[in-house]
Amino acid sequence: MRSLSGYLGSILLLILFTNTASFAAERIIRAGAAKVDITPESGVSLDGPISKNGPVTGVNDPLHARVIVFDDGRTRIAIAVCDVCMIDRGVMDEAKARVTEEIGLPASRILISATHTHAAPRATLIGTEPADQKYHDELAARIAKAVIAAAKNLAPARVGFGSFSRPDLIRCRRNLCEPDSVVVNPFGESGERIKSVSGRSSAVIEPAGPIDPQFSILSIQHADGSPLAILGNFSVHYCGGYKRGIVSADYFGQFAQALEGASNADSEHPPFVGIMSNGTSGNTGAIERGGKKYAPYEWLTLAGRMLAEQSLSVIEKIEHRSDVSLQMEEAQLELKVRRPDQARIAWAKKVLADPDGTYPHRWSKVYAQEALHLSKYPLTRRIKLQAIRIGEIGIAAAPCEVFAETGLAIKNASPLSNTFTIELANGYGGYLPPAEQHALGGYETWPARSSFLEVEAEAKIRTELRRLLNVVSPLTSFRETQTFAAPEAHQGVAVDQHHFYAVTNRSVAKYTKHTGTLVTRWDSTDKVPLRHLNGGVVVDGRLYCAHSNWPTQPTSNSIEMWDTKSLTHAGRKTFDEDRLSFTWVDRHDNAWWVVFAAYGDAETVSGTRLVKYDDKWTELATWHFPRDVIDRFVPYSNSGGSFGPDGLLYVTGHDRSEVYALRIPPKGDLLELVRTVPVGIFGQGLAWDRTVRGVLFGIRRKDKQVVVSKASYGLMERE
Ligand SMILES: [Zn+2]
Repeated sequence: MRSLSGYLGSILLLILFTNTASFAAERIIRAGAAKVDITPESGVSLDGPISKNGPVTGVNDPLHARVIVFDDGRTRIAIAVCDVCMIDRGVMDEAKARVTEEIGLPASRILISATHTHAAPRATLIGTEPADQKYHDELAARIAKAVIAAAKNLAPARVGFGSFSRPDLIRCRRNLCEPDSVVVNPFGESGERIKSVSGRSSAVIEPAGPIDPQFSILSIQHADGSPLAILGNFSVHYCGGYKRGIVSADYFGQFAQALEGASNADSEHPPFVGIMSNGTSGNTGAIERGGKKYAPYEWLTLAGRMLAEQSLSVIEKIEHRSDVSLQMEEAQLELKVRRPDQARIAWAKKVLADPDGTYPHRWSKVYAQEALHLSKYPLTRRIKLQAIRIGEIGIAAAPCEVFAETGLAIKNASPLSNTFTIELANGYGGYLPPAEQHALGGYETWPARSSFLEVEAEAKIRTELRRLLNVVSPLTSFRETQTFAAPEAHQGVAVDQHHFYAVTNRSVAKYTKHTGTLVTRWDSTDKVPLRHLNGGVVVDGRLYCAHSNWPTQPTSNSIEMWDTKSLTHAGRKTFDEDRLSFTWVDRHDNAWWVVFAAYGDAETVSGTRLVKYDDKWTELATWHFPRDVIDRFVPYSNSGGSFGPDGLLYVTGHDRSEVYALRIPPKGDLLELVRTVPVGIFGQGLAWDRTVRGVLFGIRRKDKQVVVSKASYGLMERE
């Protein structure tokens, strides 16, 4: 018999459960912000423009650790940005440990980064003076204090994203030069093609890389619409124009100060906090407007204020939402260290043994010392990478001085429409040139404690950050954005930059994407007698559609091809398969993917297989569908399939209003069901639009509509 207390306990549980459910249904995001002064005392070793270090003698403007904490009821995360040149992993880990101890927030939910102002300490363990260790300890304590203060300020909030472009403020500071025009590097080696930082020469051909001109703004407001915090992100190394020994937060600090001045939060709320994080500026420097000569600190002040003003005008026009969810994921990568070989060590010792000797380069002595430092580094270095999703806004964080092209590639590969990268986060991993930039040489590639990761590090980090962004961005729903009437919307649809192609059994029709106007139509003829066309894909100006003689047995299967410009039939590829029917074809990961479908009971439908082919149509691998998905297909089979922006394969059955997101397993031949997502189509062919992020084309057979849906990643699921 149940005891009375057990019975009361059940009632209590029921009440608790009911309360939780209703709370969750109305749940909104909370945010809190705070800043703590981290200005070093006189005597602490200060960084400066390249090789102009020295002790702190004064302060132009104070340094701060600025923090935003978010909490969606399930997940709490903290983002800290510090006005320091760089921060060692140990200092950051110490700060995180203090936060965990004090308020329980785990280290894996805390992002700490340095802005890279060069008029601030390098909080790395490179310096050896005792004053620095004291500053490092103090810095860790103060960063922790700022995170804890921000968490205490948590209050109902809403967030929005905006951006603007300022290519006029950025230049690639690595210049590609004519062959044989670059003098030998510090190690006495010739053949490099790069002049870096201030290298001007008539032999310069062009900048060696792109810039990322985007200024990103994550705006956080209180529930009543008053400003709570702004996190800006821009990819300029720093502005500079300092006096030696004088501390400054550079334009990062000026941006924050200008916003804080303009936002004068009312007394009801804690003070507003402005923040600017450094994007991917390992190879980009500032352009001083108009090439005018500025007094010390003048340009950095102007630049910070100008960007703050422009941000405020953008924020006025953007939508802020409170129903956003949070996700954060962290991973460690073990990377090789570019340690000097025996010959380099012997060279370094020789250079250092003869202080009055003549060297190939004015920095030979510096790099000889660096070679000896690196020879004591371990063989590998573990670095920490993080990805955060705040609603539909993505943030990727790496501990290096990341190049613009890497940041652009990460933005481009993210499943989220608004993504930015924060560099010098969670440790210090030096410059991160892509392999092709390593091949060109230049200052950023020379082995030193400021550039020590393996040549392949950039590709490995980029790939891992892309994976982490996908992990934090589960596609949870679709929103129908447009429908177009098309009599051919019966079997499938394909899409390219300006058009979509509706596919019925014996016809294909080309429509203008934005207006849904019919451009041209192809119909089956005696010469090309088709009977059962299916889903397709457009690749390099060609439409590829699956075709079969279904339901006739034995089956005959082919890919039919059209030139997309004229929609003239342009070829055919036949297959030996004579039992199963071909339902769709896609192009992904430099390979062809097709499905041969079986129809009938669950056991028969389980024979449906996904096949991957190389460019010569050699079969590379085969997979089957998981039972959960088969049960949704029966008595029909897999109708459509298209690889999504997150790398998952999205497939449909014959008529249900849902898509199944499948993962190709690392081992074995059974596809993994990641999740089922409802969508306003009824099975059949579908196609991701690969020219617009997160847009899916499908068809509604019963009323002959092509349906355009937008993927949703960040909105809270309604319980
Ligand atoms: Zn730097």
